[in-house]
Amino acid sequence: ESIIHLENIRKSYYMGSHALEVLKGITLDIYRKEYVALMGPSGSGKSTLMNILGCLDTPTSGTYILNGSDVSKMADDDLAEVRNKEIGFVFQQFNLLPRLTAAENVALPLIYGGVSKKERMERALEALRKVGLADRSQHKPNEMSGGQIQRVAIARALVNNPSILLADEPTGNLDSKTSVEVMEIFGQIQAAGNTVVLVTHEEDIAAFAKRVVRLRDGLIETDTTREPKHAMA
Ligand code: ADP
Ligand code: ADP
Repeated sequence: ESIIHLENIRKSYYMGSHALEVLKGITLDIYRKEYVALMGPSGSGKSTLMNILGCLDTPTSGTYILNGSDVSKMADDDLAEVRNKEIGFVFQQFNLLPRLTAAENVALPLIYGGVSKKERMERALEALRKVGLADRSQHKPNEMSGGQIQRVAIARALVNNPSILLADEPTGNLDSKTSVEVMEIFGQIQAAGNTVVLVTHEEDIAAFAKRVVRLRDGLIETDTTREPKHAMA
């Protein structure tokens, strides 16, 4: 059973009387525990598709079933609730708060959930453990490397136990060695049972994912599955 089911998804942007159709009928199933890289030229619709997958936006037409519920026609409030429960986001910009420690940054998404401070810190530590940074929990962002900072951002995305982890160019600000380190972390997270979908422009980065979906001009051009690369091999 798929965790993401997209059927004939279309998305148009309207500017005055002009409509621009950016997604032109995307049908795609992503299964639990998959590690998928989304590629394609600039303007092919990757960000638009990620915004729909992440429940930040709804399609103009078509069906999106996320973890069993139809989110394609949901009102904004309901969509926000699904988003908070089901989705973890990692961005190119790390968006950590500089005055907070790693653990406090990771715990931020839990503040709105009425979780006690003690439990917030426990869950933040557990998430930091998953990205191999339990020993940096009391460090502030300016005391960490770029790779460590991105791992803290990944831990923050995981702290709510989302059913899918979405990452938009997560290695866009990192050098190639650090990028590999971050991709390995995504691999471990996927192996531990999470579903990971990430956008990248770089073939070297996409090579870490088992499945690569390529968009072109609002349609899926190719969808290939192969043995992923491992940095440690
Ligand atoms: P990619 O991420 O592959 O570069 P995008 O999804 O960002 O592609 O954009 C696809 C096309 O849709 C581009 O032509 C872009 O300018 C247009 N577009 C994206 N978002 C909007 C928007 N909010 N309003 C109008 N046009 C948009
Ligand atoms: P990417 O690096 O994925 O190509 P873009 O620079 O295309 O990102 O888009 C960044 C953000 O701006 C996206 O959320 C997209 O929806 C929005 N955007 C892109 N093009 C337009 C546009 N023509 N009008 C309004 N918003 C846009």
